[in-house]
Amino acid sequence: MVDQQGDNGAIAVVGAGFSGTIAAIQLRRRLPAALAVYLLERSGQFARGIAYANSKVAHLLNVRAANMSAFPDDPTHFERWLETHAARWPGELIRTSAGGFATRRLYGLYLESTLHSEIASSGGTVRLLTEEVYGLEQTPEGGRLVCRDGKSIAVRGVVLATGSLPANRPCDGVEFRDPWTPEALAGLDPLAPVLIVGTGLTMVDLVLALDAQGFRGPIIALSRRGLVPQAHEAIGQGWPAPEFTEQVRGSALLLFQAVRAELRAAAAQNIGWRAVIDSLRPQTAALWRGLAGAERGRFLRHIRPYWDIHRHRMAPPAAELVNRLRAEGVLRVLRGRVRAVQPGTGLAAVQYDACPTGACKTLAVQRVIYATGLQGVRASGGLVAALLASGQARLDGQELGLDVTQGLNIIDGDGKVARNLWALGPIVRGTFWECLAVPDIRQQADQLAREVVSALAPASVEVSV
Ligand SMILES: Cc1cc2nc3c(=O)[nH]c(=O)nc-3n(C[C@H](O)[C@H](O)[C@H](O)COP(=O)(O)OP(=O)(O)OC[C@H]3O[C@@H](n4cnc5c(N)ncnc54)[C@H](O)[C@@H]3O)c2cc1C
Repeated sequence: MVDQQGDNGAIAVVGAGFSGTIAAIQLRRRLPAALAVYLLERSGQFARGIAYANSKVAHLLNVRAANMSAFPDDPTHFERWLETHAARWPGELIRTSAGGFATRRLYGLYLESTLHSEIASSGGTVRLLTEEVYGLEQTPEGGRLVCRDGKSIAVRGVVLATGSLPANRPCDGVEFRDPWTPEALAGLDPLAPVLIVGTGLTMVDLVLALDAQGFRGPIIALSRRGLVPQAHEAIGQGWPAPEFTEQVRGSALLLFQAVRAELRAAAAQNIGWRAVIDSLRPQTAALWRGLAGAERGRFLRHIRPYWDIHRHRMAPPAAELVNRLRAEGVLRVLRGRVRAVQPGTGLAAVQYDACPTGACKTLAVQRVIYATGLQGVRASGGLVAALLASGQARLDGQELGLDVTQGLNIIDGDGKVARNLWALGPIVRGTFWECLAVPDIRQQADQLAREVVSALAPASVEVSV
């Protein structure tokens, strides 16, 4: 069947952030040349996504350059690219005692250039299509993507890499629910207080951006526990991967206690906590898989905030600035939950319940910016909402993302595996947990390409999109 693009069959990847870009590259490497790869992106910006957009602020990656290769089988790929290209962008690669940290916009250039050089050398077809996909129809040949502009695109299979961030989030001039939109920090009185709700890495991004634009007023960061991410340090002595018993693996609380015991044992040998947390990484996905739904819920409610600040760390220069601003009293971190925001003619009044007392307190601020991290995938609307509504997909038990098999196939509303519909990246974090950062997503993209190739092998072709 020749499709509208003139191709004799194609696999479509929807979304061209890191996940979709690397999935498209891996697919192109593994699929027969006769099968085209379509990469569809609504923004027209390929190989970027929010994380690696061409921002005015020189935000640093929060992972060392040495761990940011796009390819699991070529761990120095990004470092080699930096050696050749970084000199053209002075100041975009910072070397610290904890390792080299590139800016996220430089990483976006790396992704773009990697995508284009792969396309040029692939010998097959990759089409970059600026389209917003908002529906998927089943056809005897596979599926048909329905695009916002009315176009429909016939494909053999579809990979969803749409991320978990909604396209549009409301702002009313005081409350900004999209922390990455430039408007969130525009038009501020440089001396009047700003409230950031959330104290994780997105809060850190915002504080850095405020500082870079000359904002000198008070910044208040509010979250239930007031926990701020830890910083990277020089890599010290490693710690062996712990072995947990079956009983421990089945309980969030026992796992928490077992990890604390590992931390104490490491400290007794003068080995820092970072080595222990890093030693868990290869088995985090398996540990998550081993927890039943209620245990996952316990982890999310009680342990996750502590896990996140140790697992997702700041680059040292970011940590230095945050610490300095805290020491100077410019940045104050409070514990509490927003109850109500009342805009006024001058400053808005924000009522919040202080933790742990529950006392209701009020802050007067010019703006409230929500930096509360990834939303449940239901909030992302658009295509994902359409797939859920039509029963072509379902949520995982914790409603963090789409439910998929270990082979990344989407599971539909009736619990059936859709043989030619896959997903990867943060959108499937309910199944894998550890699939937010580059070192994990690149592994998934590699696996995904193998799964797609084997599903399309003649003996196993099924058409159940
Ligand atoms: C601010 C930030 C900083 C980060 N920093 C790091 C870091 O330093 N190191 C690290 O390892 N990880 C980092 N991460 C995490 C990681 O790299 C991201 O989770 C990853 O980029 C996710 O990519 P994605 O492609 O799945 O999603 P996204 O980047 O959200 O991309 C999804 C893309 O899909 C498009 N799209 C969505 N729906 C449709 C549709 N219906 N039709 C067409 N297109 C659509 C969107 O426009 C978007 O471009 C960071 C994440 C963020 C948000």
